[in-house]
Amino acid sequence: MTRYLNEFRPTRRLLMGPGPCNIHPRVLQVMAETCQGHLDPEVTRAMVDISDMLRIVLGTGNEATLAVSGTGSAAMESAVFNVIEPGDKMLVAVNGYFGERLAEVASRAGADVHKVEFPWGKPVQADAVAAELKRLGKVKVVGMVHAETSTGVLSPPAAVANVAHEHGAILLMDAVTSVGGMEVALDKWGVDVCYSGPQKCLGIPPGIAPISMGPRAEEVYKNRKTKVVSYYLDIGLLKEYWMPPHKYHHTGPANLIYAMREGLRMIMQEGLEKRFARHAKNAASLRAGLEAMGMKLFAEPASRLNSLTTVWIPEGVNDAKTRSTLLNEYNLEIGGGLGPVAGRVWRIGLMSDSSHPANIFACLSALEEVMLRQGYEIPRGAGLAAAQKALVS
Ligand SMILES: *Cc1c(COP(=O)(O)O)cnc(C)c1O
Repeated sequence: MTRYLNEFRPTRRLLMGPGPCNIHPRVLQVMAETCQGHLDPEVTRAMVDISDMLRIVLGTGNEATLAVSGTGSAAMESAVFNVIEPGDKMLVAVNGYFGERLAEVASRAGADVHKVEFPWGKPVQADAVAAELKRLGKVKVVGMVHAETSTGVLSPPAAVANVAHEHGAILLMDAVTSVGGMEVALDKWGVDVCYSGPQKCLGIPPGIAPISMGPRAEEVYKNRKTKVVSYYLDIGLLKEYWMPPHKYHHTGPANLIYAMREGLRMIMQEGLEKRFARHAKNAASLRAGLEAMGMKLFAEPASRLNSLTTVWIPEGVNDAKTRSTLLNEYNLEIGGGLGPVAGRVWRIGLMSDSSHPANIFACLSALEEVMLRQGYEIPRGAGLAAAQKALVS
C-alpha cells in the first residue's frame, strides 16, 4: 500500500519547546470554518480587529500595525527590508542565534552590517551599543532581540532605544518570544520597528506574524530612494491591503486570520496583566522544580524569560536520548540547545496555553523518570514538590 494513501493523523503532543505552543481548541476550531475570500468584508473586518488588538498587546498607537502572511522570519525580513537600503549602516546587538539571524537578513538586504556581540546567555548592554555607535558614526538602524529564544534571555529595549535615538538611529526589535507573555511597550520604550510571531506567546499557529512601524520608521520608509527589495513584504503595499481600502496585494490566509483574531480575543478576555502574571508564576514554579532536581539554570536571575527557561543538562545525561524518549514515550516536546550550547542545555517553553501548572508537573515528572533511567540520581518527587510549593507561595 502506498504510504501517502494512509490517513495522516498528527499525534497530540504536549508542546513545551521554544515554540510552537499548544493551540487552544477555540483557535483550532475557528480555523476549520469555511474559507472566505481574502477581500470578503468579514475577513477585512477581522483584519482591522487584529490591528486593534495587536496595538494593545504591543503597547503602541502605531497606525502601521498588521500581520504579514508568513512566519516570524517573514516579519523579520519585512521589518529589515522596509527601513534598509543597500549601503545603509545597521548595527545589530547579537547575544544569541536570532540576533545572528537578524544580522544575516540585514546583510542580504544589502546593509553595511556591524555587530556588537555579547556572550550567549547574557543580555544586551546599552552602553556597549552606545560605544559602538560612537565609533561607527552614522548608523541608520540598530537591531536587537528583546527575548532571545536561543538562550532564554531578556534584554532592555528602552535603554537601547535611548542610545539609538541619541545617535540619530532608529531601533528595530525582535519580540517574537515576548509578545503576549511578557510586557511589550513599544511607545513607552521608544521602539520604532517591531515584529513578532504567533506560535510563541500569542497562542496562534505559525504562518501569520505581527509587525508594527512607528512614525520615525515610517518617515525612513517614505524617504527611501529605492524600492523595498520585496514586493510581498513592502509595508506600504501591505497597509493598503490590511487597512481600508483593502486593495488586493496577495491572497491573505483567511483561516489563519480567523485564528489570529480568536487567539488575540482570548488574550483580551484573559487580560494582559493576568496573562503576564500567569506566565511569571508558572515560570517561577518550573525553575524551582528544575533546581530542586539538582539542575542549574542557564540565564541569570535578572534576565530570565518567563516564556522560556534554559537549563544546563546534567553531567552523564544524554541530550538526544532524553528528548527522543520524552517525545516518543510521553508525547512531550522540549527544545535542545543551539550554537555554542547545542547538546548542553534544554529549552523548556511555557508559552500561552502551554503555560499551565499541569504541564509543569507532567514535564518535571517525565524528565525525572527519563533521567533516573540514565543513572542521574535525584530524590524522587523533589522537583514536583518544589514546583507545587512555588505555585502556592
Ligand atoms: C521563533 C523566532 C523567530 C523566527 O520565527 P519563525 O516563526 O520560526 O520564522 C525569530 N526570532 C525569535 C526570537 C524567535 O524566537
